[in-house]
Amino acid sequence: MYNISSIRKDFPILSRTVYGKPLVYLDNAATTQKPLCVLDAMRDEYLNVNANVHRGVHWMSQQATDLHEAARETVRRFINARSTAEVVFTRGTTEGINLVASSFVEGFMKEGDEVIVSAVEHHSNIVPWQILEKRRGIVLKVIPMNDEGVLDLPAFEQLITDRTKLVSVSHVSNVMGTINPVREIIRIAHEHGLPVMLDGAQSVPHFKVDVQELDCEFLAFSGHKIYGPTGIGVLYGKKEWLDKLPPYQGGGEMIETVSFSGTTFERPPLKFEAGTPDYVATHGLATAIDYVTNLGMDNIQQHEQELTRYAIEQMREIPDIRFFGISESEIAGNVAPHDAVVSFLIGDIHPMDLGTLLDQLGIAVRTGHHCAQPLMERFNILGTVRASFALYNTKEEIDALVAGIQRVVKMF
Ligand code: PMP
Repeated sequence: MYNISSIRKDFPILSRTVYGKPLVYLDNAATTQKPLCVLDAMRDEYLNVNANVHRGVHWMSQQATDLHEAARETVRRFINARSTAEVVFTRGTTEGINLVASSFVEGFMKEGDEVIVSAVEHHSNIVPWQILEKRRGIVLKVIPMNDEGVLDLPAFEQLITDRTKLVSVSHVSNVMGTINPVREIIRIAHEHGLPVMLDGAQSVPHFKVDVQELDCEFLAFSGHKIYGPTGIGVLYGKKEWLDKLPPYQGGGEMIETVSFSGTTFERPPLKFEAGTPDYVATHGLATAIDYVTNLGMDNIQQHEQELTRYAIEQMREIPDIRFFGISESEIAGNVAPHDAVVSFLIGDIHPMDLGTLLDQLGIAVRTGHHCAQPLMERFNILGTVRASFALYNTKEEIDALVAGIQRVVKMF
C-alpha cells in the first residue's frame, strides 16, 4: 500500500519549516531528500564497521568489503545487469559520462570520428565531449527536437555516418521531464552497429529501468537523486565493453600488479575504481534502493504521474502560463511520455523573481537554465521555473505551489 503520510515520516526534513512556513520541497530533480534508513545505515557503518575495503585481512575490513560488494549486487539486481562486473561505482552521473567519454575516445576513436548527443542534454553530456573535441579532434553531432521537446528520429538516423562511433543521450530530460524515445534510438543505433550510452540521472529514480530490456551499452546515474547519499553513482556497462575500454584513472584498487617496468590492471569493475571508494555511500545507496524497491518502482511511478497530471491540470488555469516539453494533448489531460517535472514560465515574469518569491512562501523550486543552456537557446529563453516531484510529494503541496504562483502573479 502506498501510504503517503507514513512515507513522509521516513523523511524528517519534510516536516521542517522555512521562514516560518511549512517546507514544500519541489526541487527533486536537483536532489532528493534521504529517508532515515539511509542515514541510519551510514551512521551505523561509521560507528561499527568502518575500515578500508578490499585490502585488509582483518575482521572489520572484511565486513566493510562485504557491505560494499553487497551494495553492488543490490544495484545489479535493481537495474537487472547480468553480473556485478557490469556495475562500476562512480561519484555520480557526471563522472560516469566522463569515464566513458575519456576511455571510449582513447580506446576507439580517431580524429574526425563522431559522437551523437541530443538537443536536450544536461551539460554533463555535452561538455566532456566538447573537451575531447578540442583535445582529440572528435566531432559532436546533435539530434534536433521539435517545439514540444520531442527528439527527431529520422533526423537522428540521417546524422549517422561511417565516422559515427557512439550515441550518448539522456533517458529523461531534467528540464522538461520528457521521456526520450531511447528504445527507438537504441534500435536505430544498433542497426548501424553503434553502442549507446544513456544518461539515467532522471529516469532511474522514477521508473523501472532494466538494462537488459533496453539493451543499452552504458547507463549512468546518481545516488543522490534516488534518495541515496551525495558523492556516489553508478556506471553500468556491458561486460564486453568494460573489458575492452582502457582505464579512466590510475591508482590503488584498479591494478593487478605494479612494477616500474609495467602494470597490469584488475578486471572490471575494479579496473575503473581507482583509489578508496566511498564504501559507506555505496551502503547508503543500496539502502535507498532497498527502500524504493520495497515501495515498488511501479507504485512510485504511478504516484508521481498522478502528481504531474494533477499539477498540469491545476496550473493550466493560470493565465499566460507557458509549459515546456508538455504537448497540447498532455495539457488537455491525455497521457504522454512525460515524467515528474513541470517546467514553465508565466507571462514575462522573470523565472528568478518567481522562484525567489515562491521561496519566501517556503516553496522550493528550481529556476534558471538547469545546466542545459543549449536547450534554453533552442527555446530562445533565459531559463524556466521547474517544479519536480518525488515519491513523498502530495497534491496538497501542488495546491500550495499553485496558490503561491497565483499570489506572486498578483504582485506583477
Ligand atoms: N544528467 C541529468 C539529466 C541530470 O539531471 C543531472 C543532474 N541535474 C546530471 C546529469 C548530473 O548529475 P550529477 O550532478 O549527480 O553528476
